[in-house]
Amino acid sequence: MPMRVLVFLDGTPADPDAAQIKVDDLGLLRGDGVFETILVVDGKPRELRPHLERLARSAAMLDLPEPDLAAWDRVVSLVLERWAGGPEMVLKLVYTRGSDGDPAAVPTGFALGSEVAPSTLKARADGVAAITLERGFPPDLAERAPWLLLGAKPLSYAMNMAAVREAGRRGAEDVIFTAADGSVFEGPTSTVVLAKGRTLYTPPSSIGILPGTTQAAVFRGAEKAGWAVKVEPLTVRDLVEGDGVFMASSVRKLTRVHTLDGERLPDSAAVYAELVAAYEGEYA
Ligand code: PLP
Repeated sequence: MPMRVLVFLDGTPADPDAAQIKVDDLGLLRGDGVFETILVVDGKPRELRPHLERLARSAAMLDLPEPDLAAWDRVVSLVLERWAGGPEMVLKLVYTRGSDGDPAAVPTGFALGSEVAPSTLKARADGVAAITLERGFPPDLAERAPWLLLGAKPLSYAMNMAAVREAGRRGAEDVIFTAADGSVFEGPTSTVVLAKGRTLYTPPSSIGILPGTTQAAVFRGAEKAGWAVKVEPLTVRDLVEGDGVFMASSVRKLTRVHTLDGERLPDSAAVYAELVAAYEGEYA
């Protein structure tokens, strides 16, 4: 049985293989909650502070009670102490609105550590074929329609996962969401990064995408290595005309997109190696 560690927000450890969540938890009934997924390497969580701050930002967007970040820090430490699995751990933090119909409902919060999935290791090693799929929103909608929660990280990821399955049906492994005008958003679980010349690009979160902690770390490391970095709107055409397209996300780290919509992209292996070194340098 692969290693898993579960600790609730109040510090109580629990059996991850036993039932723990009440059936009327709104996180379960409506996906009404937020989450974060953090990579831990050799006992050290990567980008913990940005992840916790993003959890708080998502919670605010959903009008959830403000998360107690000191309590989250403690629960993360408790999971790390109990971990006896491999050198890498996927650490998921989940924070929901709690029980339905209970006026005094307290949020449900827990941290779950688990092993990295084999499919993640394969994506890191081999890169992925991606397809573009329309997300159906124009890039200027996020600011006008905050109730759509664009740019938050809610538990309701069924649409994101459906998009990944659609990619599978079309012979690919990942998705780049786009708008009707060709604007590039993000992947279902990752941020798009484009390399062109010695400049890295990623779209701004103001268009309704999640600000990526991995993308930020890659940009930080790349700047130290002499790259220029730009946060600006991108189109699918920009991706095709660039020197490398990458998907950044905490557990997959930086993943190469070798094929987009069935077309082989230019070989970006050398750029990829350089960017991975810059990213890993942030944790050396
Ligand atoms: N965009 C979406 C929609 C995501 O779900 C994720 C992570 O899961 C990301 C981007 C990448 O964020 P991070 O690098 O902080 O993991």
